[in-house]
Amino acid sequence: MRDYPRIVVPPPGPRAQEVVRRDEAWTSSCYIKEYPLVVARGRGPMVEDVDGNRFLDFMAGIAVCSTGYGHPKVVAAVKDAADRFLHICGSDFYYEGMAALCERLARLAPGSSKKRVFLTNSGTEATEGAIKLARYATRRTAIIAFRGAFHGRSTGAVSLTSSKARQHAGFGPLLPDVHHVPFAYRYRCQWCATEAQCTRGCLDAIEKELFVRHLDPHDVAAIFVEPIQGEGGYIVPPPGYLRGLRDICDRYGILLVADEVQSGVGRTGKMWACDHEGVEPDILLTAKGLGSGMPIGAIVAKESVSTWESGSHGSTFGGNPVCCAAALATLDLVEDGLMANAVTMGARLRTGMESLAARHDCIGEVRGVGLMVGVEFVKDRRTREPAPDVVGKLVQGAFHRGLLLLGAGKSTLRLAPPLVVDEYDVDTALGMIDEELAVAGRESRAASLVGQQS
Ligand code: PLP
Repeated sequence: MRDYPRIVVPPPGPRAQEVVRRDEAWTSSCYIKEYPLVVARGRGPMVEDVDGNRFLDFMAGIAVCSTGYGHPKVVAAVKDAADRFLHICGSDFYYEGMAALCERLARLAPGSSKKRVFLTNSGTEATEGAIKLARYATRRTAIIAFRGAFHGRSTGAVSLTSSKARQHAGFGPLLPDVHHVPFAYRYRCQWCATEAQCTRGCLDAIEKELFVRHLDPHDVAAIFVEPIQGEGGYIVPPPGYLRGLRDICDRYGILLVADEVQSGVGRTGKMWACDHEGVEPDILLTAKGLGSGMPIGAIVAKESVSTWESGSHGSTFGGNPVCCAAALATLDLVEDGLMANAVTMGARLRTGMESLAARHDCIGEVRGVGLMVGVEFVKDRRTREPAPDVVGKLVQGAFHRGLLLLGAGKSTLRLAPPLVVDEYDVDTALGMIDEELAVAGRESRAASLVGQQS
């Protein structure tokens, strides 16, 4: 038996409440705060709060803690690097960790062409740099992005983001010449949701609609795509879709930018989600899981694209030596077993969720690759009307039982545990979700009975 999950005092306990009160008094009003989890420490896939409650984590600090909490090899690498020097500025000076990480990422990136790497502090900074690089390299201005996309929050990156209107509200005008097109969301596709096969309607919408009526393809610098849409609802496009985008880009000299900030670094069972399709993007973006929680990201560009001249872009902290050490240790672990674990545990998780779908008719679709699994909830399987309340209740209820979950999109549960989870963790999470859905089902049946009687 493991010593987690374990609720010793209903969260938030007294110590947690104290921190929450202080936080609410002093932190900026823009934070969301999903639930009152106040972390004291973590180990593997377990997070302990300040009152001694132990949670099983199936969201990994939003798909970041890839090697779990406090992996000894990552912690040792961080301590060793911190002992030597905390900073020197990789934009201006040299150190081995930066050269080693850039070489490693360049070699790991999909495809055979030589790459060059720019290190960032975050996914947003990677997106922002990629917008600049794509424009610089092509001398074109237009950018295509997808509905439901999330690429970050700085003014450029948020202009590509199309996830929630409140992320744009009050911040305009945003970047001009950004064009959003439908993503390959089979479950809700306007062209092929009811068809047996994808009809490529969303690819045609780019080439036969947008490029014919609205936008000259030769003005387009780049198409930014999440190979599996993350914040938008863990949406896996049908096979051939990424290849189709690659072909469109090739026909018009457009750069394909794969935002693998959420899907990369082994989460899908391969190093990059693009690897499942054998597609080589011109620019690949990574962050989140790369440093196991240390802030680091990267723009990995084909050498032929990485034409920006010395001094045209930079970052004071990007590629910080301690973060480089964490990333190198993370990549070792991901290559030496965690990627394979994501395949086996991901299959177990998906199969388990599919059997829950047989019992709970609020589950509309289970989808995912490796340990990037989405479960979309609906009010009615026939109409596919989204059921955001079910996800909201499930996430809150699970927290009170000792399971950390997170939603995505309108009504999807995202399952993105640390890549170190084992059978116990997966089966425990499935059992807890099952119980929580059973409670929600009983409550909603009771409520509709009351409604009928009154
Ligand atoms: N791109 C994708 C696909 C993301 O999921 C995110 C964050 O959720 C970002 C970019 C932004 O990354 P960050 O929050 O590190 O700035």
